[in-house]
Amino acid sequence: MADTKTYALIGIYGGTFDPVHYGHLRIAEELTEILRPDHLLFLPAGHPRLRDTPAATGACRVTMLHTAIRGNSMFSVDDRETRRSGETYSVESLQEIRQKYQTKHEGNKRVALCFIIGADAFIKLPRWYRWRELFELCHFVIANRPGSVPIANTSSLPDELKDACRDRWITTADELKNAPFGLIFTAPTTLLDISSTRIRNIIASGKSARYLLPEPVLNYIDRHDLYAGGK
Ligand code: ATP
Ligand code: MG
Repeated sequence: MADTKTYALIGIYGGTFDPVHYGHLRIAEELTEILRPDHLLFLPAGHPRLRDTPAATGACRVTMLHTAIRGNSMFSVDDRETRRSGETYSVESLQEIRQKYQTKHEGNKRVALCFIIGADAFIKLPRWYRWRELFELCHFVIANRPGSVPIANTSSLPDELKDACRDRWITTADELKNAPFGLIFTAPTTLLDISSTRIRNIIASGKSARYLLPEPVLNYIDRHDLYAGGK
């Protein structure tokens, strides 16, 4: 049988990770089985334009991610955005990441980037800076999320996004390796109703966030007194 693996596939999981929790980690784990990527990067946002300044510093969020993924050789943390001052844009980070991996894999056409995104974030894509260019840089892998309208195809999307997504939908993950960017796949990941906002609120109210996120991350939060003031 012919080898269908045409492109090296790099998963990129962007987010604020304030803090990282089992919703994020379980999706990343399941996607390593579904997508069979060469590698998966967590890309914590620096100073996102579209939301409040994160409660924890970039350095703390990066450390929490490192703590959460320790020992998993498939995962790593890309801290380029948290090291930068000023607003950060996914489109610029993806351009840089593509550049880096293209060089590594010898040649423009050999790398497929898959941006992993929850349904709540994907539906707001038209608010992102230079968002249409993202389809020329990466595929999108959508994880549905409790409390968000499920996304399976264009029908539930706002018009502008619906148009941009037309003819991009694929039904099997293997197809992501046949093109460097531009496809959309909704992954059948487990729905876990966990959010960082809820964790921050639980901690601020003095209650237990145990079992919503890895114990070592919670210990780090305790030690550094993060989120105690709420937000
Ligand atoms: P916050 O409440 O601060 O927004 P969050 O839990 O949504 O935090 P983010 O860092 O904003 O976490 O999320 C990063 C990415 O992960 C986004 O694309 C988001 O949609 C997705 N995501 C986060 N939690 C889940 C979850 N439980 N199920 C599916 N997708 C999720
Ligand atoms: Mg969020």
